[in-house]
Order: sequence, then structure tokens, then C-alpha cells
Amino acid sequence: PMTKAQLLAWIDKQNAVFLDKKEYLTDLDAAIGDADHGINMNRGFAKVMEKLPTVADKDLPTILKTVGMTLMSSVGGASGPLYGTFWMKGAMALDGKAEMTTADFKAFLEAAVGGIVQRGRPELGDKTMYDLWGPVLAAVKAADDTAPLAEVVAAALPVAEAALAATIPLQARKGRASYLGERSIGHPDPGATSSLYMLQTLQEVLG
Ligand code: ADP
Ligand code: MG
Ligand code: MG
Repeated sequence: PMTKAQLLAWIDKQNAVFLDKKEYLTDLDAAIGDADHGINMNRGFAKVMEKLPTVADKDLPTILKTVGMTLMSSVGGASGPLYGTFWMKGAMALDGKAEMTTADFKAFLEAAVGGIVQRGRPELGDKTMYDLWGPVLAAVKAADDTAPLAEVVAAALPVAEAALAATIPLQARKGRASYLGERSIGHPDPGATSSLYMLQTLQEVLG
């Protein structure tokens, strides 16, 4: 299972990775959007890191909800509400839990990805972060509840990598990139890229 210490380490690591990848994510968004995705993720996680000490002694759902509410209120644009809803809906699936088992993580991810769908109304193939989370959720849900969470997440990583690569030839049908029409073809989706980083950092923390 994921302990609270691992959850806090996951959030901390995401902050570090988004700092490291700030320029790269912004470059990806420059190609098909408005060149702010790296800036948005950094602003959001910097705020999350400020808030985290105030809830670090609380239960898992409270910490997750705080991440979501902070991203929601500090990140502008499309990704703020989408990632905000992801963490907040995920938190609601866990009521009062002290650790996240594989079964809990399935429930967390189903609710979290459901939040993205509810908020952004993406369909598979629209070239959004949902093109990554859709296949990842399917892979996670197919795992046995008795499998260690670290294994389940590690097995989902190649699925996520393939899903990100599969966004490259797509034409965007949601978000700012959709304004570019055919010129959005040939670039990876920035939000799917930041989503892959989230899963990679989780795997590192659990591994
Ligand atoms: P903005 O486009 O408002 O500047 P960001 O650049 O931070 O916001 O985030 C852009 C990312 O948000 C896209 O790469 C895509 O993954 C995601 N996105 C945009 N619109 C939607 C939507 N309707 N549903 C799901 N994801 C979306
Ligand atoms: Mg943008
Ligand atoms: Mg923007």
C-alpha cells in the first residue's frame, strides 16, 4: 500500500520534477498552445508545497483534497480545474483511509479520471491528458486487488508511455490546441506529458 509518507513524497517529487521540466512542458505548449503549461504546473505545485505542512498530520483524503483545491485555485487555464478535480474527486473515493491499498488506488484513480471527464468532456483521441489516463485507468482496473500497488503502477507505466506517444499524430479536438486544427498534428500533448510525469514519480516513490 501507499503510506502517508509515500503520498507526501509523491507530491514533493512532483514539485521537483515539474521544476525540472518547466521549460520542456512550456516548449511543448508553445508548439500547440499558449506556452504556459510548465509555468502553470510549477505555480500550482509551489502553492501545494506551501500548503502541505498545514495538513501533513491529517489523513490521506484530506491531503489529496488540499492538493486539488490548491491546484484549482492557483493554476489558471484548462489544467488547473482538470488536475484540481482529479485530486479532489480522488480524495472523495478514499474516506478516512490511512493507507492506499491496490483496491483503494483503483477507486482513487477511477474517481480522479472520472473528474477529468466530467470537467473537460474529453473523448479518447481528442489529444488531451485523458488520452493517457483512459488507458492507464483501464490497465490499473484490470490488475488483481492482491497485487502489490508498486507492481500495478509499474505495469501501467509502459501503457502510459505508449499513450503519450500516441497523442503525437492526433489532431487536437479540445482545449487551445484545437484552435490550430491540422497544425496540432505532430506534437505530444503537454497535459498528457505532465500526467506521465505524475505516474513516473509515483512509481519511483513506491518502487
Ligand atoms: P491552457 O490550455 O488553458 O493554457 P495548460 O496549458 O496548462 O492550460 O494545459 C493544457 C492541457 O490541458 C492540454 O495539453 C490538455 O492535455 C489539457 N486539456 C485542455 N482542454 C481539455 C479538456 N477539455 N479535457 C481534457 N483535457 C484538456
Ligand atoms: Mg497552455
Ligand atoms: Mg494558458
